[in-house]
Amino acid sequence: MTASRQSGHPPPDRVRVLVVGAGPAGMVAGITLAGYGIDVLLVEKRTRASALSRAMLISTRTMELMRRWGLEAAVRAEASDVEAYTYVTESLTAGTGSDLPMAIPTRPEAAVVSPTRPAWAPQDSIEPILFAHLRTLPTAEVRLGCELTGLRQDDDGVQATLLDSRTGTAHVIEARYVIGADGPYSTVREQLGIAMEGLDHLGHYESVQFRAPLDAVVGDRKPAIYMITRPDAAGFLSRRGHGDRWVFARGRAPDQAGLADLGEAELAGLLARAAGVDELRPRVDRLSTFALAAMLAERYREGRGFLIGDAAHRMTPRGGTGMNTAVQDAFDLGWKLAWVLQKWAPADLLDSYQTERRPIGKHNVDFSAAPPTVPATAAETLPWDLNGRLAHHWLPAPGGAPAPADPVSTIDLVGDGLTVLAGREGRRWTSTRAIATAPIPLAVRLLDQGTAAALGLRPGGAVLVRPDCQEIRRWSHYDEADPPRADHLAPAPRPLPAD
Ligand SMILES: Cc1cc2nc3c(=O)[nH]c(=O)nc-3n(C[C@H](O)[C@H](O)[C@H](O)COP(=O)(O)OP(=O)(O)OC[C@H]3O[C@@H](n4cnc5c(N)ncnc54)[C@H](O)[C@@H]3O)c2cc1C
Repeated sequence: MTASRQSGHPPPDRVRVLVVGAGPAGMVAGITLAGYGIDVLLVEKRTRASALSRAMLISTRTMELMRRWGLEAAVRAEASDVEAYTYVTESLTAGTGSDLPMAIPTRPEAAVVSPTRPAWAPQDSIEPILFAHLRTLPTAEVRLGCELTGLRQDDDGVQATLLDSRTGTAHVIEARYVIGADGPYSTVREQLGIAMEGLDHLGHYESVQFRAPLDAVVGDRKPAIYMITRPDAAGFLSRRGHGDRWVFARGRAPDQAGLADLGEAELAGLLARAAGVDELRPRVDRLSTFALAAMLAERYREGRGFLIGDAAHRMTPRGGTGMNTAVQDAFDLGWKLAWVLQKWAPADLLDSYQTERRPIGKHNVDFSAAPPTVPATAAETLPWDLNGRLAHHWLPAPGGAPAPADPVSTIDLVGDGLTVLAGREGRRWTSTRAIATAPIPLAVRLLDQGTAAALGLRPGGAVLVRPDCQEIRRWSHYDEADPPRADHLAPAPRPLPAD
């Protein structure tokens, strides 16, 4: 990881948005804001990328965002070729076992609802993809080795104290807004005086990243996770992307020796037993321990400061929602802040960040804390990931032409401003007076009859959607006196998915 527009100079004195932390949440906030041309400074206390795999599951909706930024193929290239199920077995080579469905859509299930599908790719290979993309955006600047140590705010903005870890010098910077994307032990959260509520100290989860030629022993099965049941090696084995990279993880009981307490030979023996290969000689890359918690910030905002990602919610790895919730928080806040800073929308749009994202954070925190015996299906978890966004339908190739290599979905039609999707009979929408009260860019997309009908549009009707594909309004026919308006940007009322 190197910094974009990084220089030996101190950070600028003033910036519109300061993002603290360059994990997945901070980078997606930066990408979204800079995508709108907003100047944004990301400060990150680490001086280099994290080599920790951590998240492996990139959810359906997160993959749709990757697709939006043109990163879908790059992420897919880092993903393991696995299917969404757990294989329960004594060891990798035991030869018998049973399949356990995961609360993640399978390929056929995802194909019905989305132009993409989840990917099983390690976080340490996703972060460089996000970082490289961020570097291409001219209004984004990243400072590595730069730690936020203090924060004050008044009606006009925030003043942040930044410490340069290389020189030891402190620097104060002013920003219109600050985003705390600084992880579970967030300094921004502490400085904003926001408490966490929920369950702390739920135990420890530990993992060892290693390399071993296990492809030859696993055969044709492609589960995302192997649940190893033999008592002397109980835990979970999964691939870390491609080749011979694997991770073994387990919850650690209070009276159990940690992986880090084991000698080299003992650790190799544990991995050999889990694999069921006596002569296995694993090459250990890294050990890590993770304190389990299921906690939610009591609020996501204080004045000009916002919390996103793990700074706003701590989840256990169950369900694989931590990073995905982080990415989607960041996109939600990013486009809303950009709209307000562009003067496309009133500042109270920012209140909707907490209203819309905190219930999802709460659901995912609670789900992560449920005992593993509580089953869940993709049908239950998917509505929380997709969050009721516009339905996906592939557009037909024009005029009966052969199917294009890169087919276009209704989801792909949604732009950075407001988008009207209308049937071809609704051509008058293309001359709509557009936005009544603010200069929000409005794109009008005319659909073929089949796609319009699939979206539930009557001939001449239309639907208005936000950048996050949330539907705001529907019309059954064109009405010159009732154009799209910018004073009502909340999604159309609909019940939250059932708990
Ligand atoms: C074992 C494990 C498995 C997981 N599996 C999954 C999964 O399958 N799917 C999933 O979605 N999630 C998973 N997660 C969770 C996921 O890793 C986190 O939710 C995700 O990293 C959160 O991203 P973030 O950007 O909010 O925070 P982080 O990734 O923690 O990034 C925060 C950044 O802020 C920086 N920082 C902190 N303080 C300061 C400061 N004062 N100044 C400047 N910088 C600062 C840190 O150095 C860090 O780089 C897993 C986690 C673990 C531990």
